[in-house]
Amino acid sequence: MVAPHRPPVSPDAALEAHLQATRDARLADYQAFLRFPSIGALPAHDDDVRRCAEWLAAALTRAGLEHAEVAETGGHPVVYADWLHAPGAPTILVYGHYDVQPVDPLELWTSPPFEPVVVDGRMLARGAADDKGQIHAHVMAAAAAFATRGRLPLNVRYVFEGEEESSSANLDRWLEANRERLAADAVIISDTGFFEGNVPSLTVSLRGLMYAQIDVVGPPIDLHSGSHGGVVQNPILALATILAALKGPDGRVRIPGFYDDVVELTEEQRAAMAALDFDEAAYQRAIGVSALVGEVGYSTLERRATRPTLDAHGIWGGFHEAGAKTIIPAHAHAKVSCRLVADQDPAAIFAALRDFVLAAAPPGVDVSVSALGQGRPSRTPEDLPVVRAAERGLEAVFGRRPIHIREGGSIPVTASFESILGLPVVLMGFSQPHENAHAPNEWLDLDNYEGAIRAIIATFDEIAADG
Ligand SMILES: [Zn+2]
Repeated sequence: MVAPHRPPVSPDAALEAHLQATRDARLADYQAFLRFPSIGALPAHDDDVRRCAEWLAAALTRAGLEHAEVAETGGHPVVYADWLHAPGAPTILVYGHYDVQPVDPLELWTSPPFEPVVVDGRMLARGAADDKGQIHAHVMAAAAAFATRGRLPLNVRYVFEGEEESSSANLDRWLEANRERLAADAVIISDTGFFEGNVPSLTVSLRGLMYAQIDVVGPPIDLHSGSHGGVVQNPILALATILAALKGPDGRVRIPGFYDDVVELTEEQRAAMAALDFDEAAYQRAIGVSALVGEVGYSTLERRATRPTLDAHGIWGGFHEAGAKTIIPAHAHAKVSCRLVADQDPAAIFAALRDFVLAAAPPGVDVSVSALGQGRPSRTPEDLPVVRAAERGLEAVFGRRPIHIREGGSIPVTASFESILGLPVVLMGFSQPHENAHAPNEWLDLDNYEGAIRAIIATFDEIAADG
């Protein structure tokens, strides 16, 4: 595995000198941002989320940006700011999120999640990588440009969300309502990371998501399995029958029409993926499984990011205490989801799943399927001028041309910017692989963080040079 072969350096010497002189103050500011327990999904932290938003708006103003605002959405606020004094230059909309994932299990953290510490060149705290560290790099990039040049090379609007980790419930409505004031030429989202080995990367596709719950209802109350066993449909077994029908032994999802809208990779794209430095055995060891399985005909990397999936996340019903209790349970439930790829439509996939589940249900139980959330997949045209500018910006700072990667995860907001604002999206993120996002001991490598600040300015310079 190769790390970037030198610490990231800005091609702008004055900027580099300024950034080196201000490093300690910048890290202290980053830590102040991380101290807010802005867990958007937990109502107990609503005040923390709002105080964090207010802090971020003030930080944007301190950096030299204008019109900083904590904008109401109906849920957690969006923090907005802009700087629009580069007439004739393009306008870039920067997106990130200041909300963070819950921190349980707390006992697995080596230090408290909201008391950030630097350990071995890494910032360790909840949100260090996902996504506070990345949006802080954007704010610090603007601050450094203002401090050394008095201006930015292009126009920028910042949209920092507070509900990304809870499905961006109110963002689409906010984007619709603010469509006019959000006029821009492209969106840069910094909420992704580098490739294995910490190779600078641009993410060119993300999977979408369709999440559903299956409820199977049998008798009105639990029944005695001695008195009624043999004549009554068992809801747990009925649910197992349904779940087992969803996928074949070839790893293919059996829902009719499921693959109809899947855009297959070109031979060239498959060859580029195959050429990536990916150690399959090391990956398997890292996640601790005895075998890697999946859809036949596709490589592990392809299956992990470019193919749609179906997974079960939870299953419950009946008796699960110690000892034995002989019942035919009244009901059973499961949560399932599909990761989707372009151009699958989450609503159509939900309808197809529902129809399949209802048809697969054995007699004697009532089955229903409800939708729990959806996000569209997204795909960035790889020859977009902004993508090329970002490649040059990253290469100038990290000394290595970024590769194009396809991510298995979802950032539903990507598709929102594409469909609501009609803007191309460049996913330029800076976290390292295995940075424990969403898990205990989340971290961001400080070289990546410092490099991000420099690469953001270099990319802005490249975009402005393109005109
Ligand atoms: Zn994130």
